[in-house]
Amino acid sequence: MQTELADFIRNTPEGDEAQAILRKCVHCGFCTATCPTYQVLGDDLDSPRGRIYLMKRALEGAPVTDKTRLHLDRCLTCRACETTCPSGVRYGRLVDIGRAVVESKTRRGPLERARRALLARTLPRPRLFAAGLALGRLARPLLPPALRAKVPARATPGAWPAPRHARKMLALAGCVQSSLAPSINAAAARVLDRAGISLIEAPGAGCCGALRFHLNYQEQGRDDMRALIDAWWPRAASGEIEAIVMTASGCGVTVKEYGHYLAGDERYREKAARISALTGDLCEVLTPQMVAGGRARGKVAFQSPCTLQHGQQIRGKVEALLRAAGYELTPVNDAHLCCGSAGTYSLLHPEIAGELRSRKLAALNAGAPEVIATANVGCLSHLQGASATPVKHWIELLDVK
Ligand code: SF4
Ligand code: SF4
Repeated sequence: MQTELADFIRNTPEGDEAQAILRKCVHCGFCTATCPTYQVLGDDLDSPRGRIYLMKRALEGAPVTDKTRLHLDRCLTCRACETTCPSGVRYGRLVDIGRAVVESKTRRGPLERARRALLARTLPRPRLFAAGLALGRLARPLLPPALRAKVPARATPGAWPAPRHARKMLALAGCVQSSLAPSINAAAARVLDRAGISLIEAPGAGCCGALRFHLNYQEQGRDDMRALIDAWWPRAASGEIEAIVMTASGCGVTVKEYGHYLAGDERYREKAARISALTGDLCEVLTPQMVAGGRARGKVAFQSPCTLQHGQQIRGKVEALLRAAGYELTPVNDAHLCCGSAGTYSLLHPEIAGELRSRKLAALNAGAPEVIATANVGCLSHLQGASATPVKHWIELLDVK
């Protein structure tokens, strides 16, 4: 697609990158078929092709309105369109650039600004989030049903094995996961311990930066990335750990792209690339041989998060681990579609997110599983809020003896 960039972005790194991406789009529309928001809303401007057109116009200097911003806001950044696109259009990168431009040229209403600022200030801070969640648990009986569904009961993580192996890996406690589901990392530590690997967490390691970056506080998101690199760097640089293991695919896709996000930062460029190179999803560290079980363990439906299957392009690995451990995988239709969680999306666009969740739960439950497994804490809490079938992280299922 031929693009004439406007003066404000011509010959900038973002402009050059956006132009190279736009050039690849041939406007064929294959991506619309796999776009969840197009499926729900039926408007071409809520499809990848429509949004690409809106961003191209914005980058060419055409007037940008609140409506332009709304169509970009409604995008889940699920990147299903990247998986579908036969021309290799990197939509995820383009929408980061497009959103920053559109944000700078429009002004949100005071209520919306306050809501987004509140999310950006509270969610990435583990202690603040933990305190808010504790209050929410106290007030749970008084909360409206929609909010009550977002406040899970307290979970007991169980024992974390003391480091005893020569092989060591770092885990990220994360900003919301450590309060919402502390059992995930503890289960990962136990399973890895049995496989001869000690899992450790670095003190002071907080949010990966995805939350603020995708709320369009992009520079603040980069600050979170730099802070996390600082917390991890002594262990990464000394060679004490051989890898960084991500138990939330939403954080994993972000940390794997630190090298890209911080490419323009002279001080952090190399460190960021090194951290990205060390990072892998938990399913890339474990092998079926490590988790092989000797007995049948029941039926599971696996919900593969977009950040795993589209963002990180990892498919089939978790399913292979679950099968090796003795689980029967039930079939799931339209497995490529987002469940509606998408970071803060379910809080900002509850109607679309609710519709996507209903469709996803119907697909997951079609094979009558005893449990639904996922690989990301955001999807887990979103699905759990409306599911009669228990929803767990897949590593918790491998932790069952
Ligand atoms: S993003 Fe890819 S699939 Fe979608 S319209 Fe452009 S070329 Fe076609
Ligand atoms: S990222 Fe997802 S929601 Fe956004 S345009 Fe692509 S397929 Fe649609």
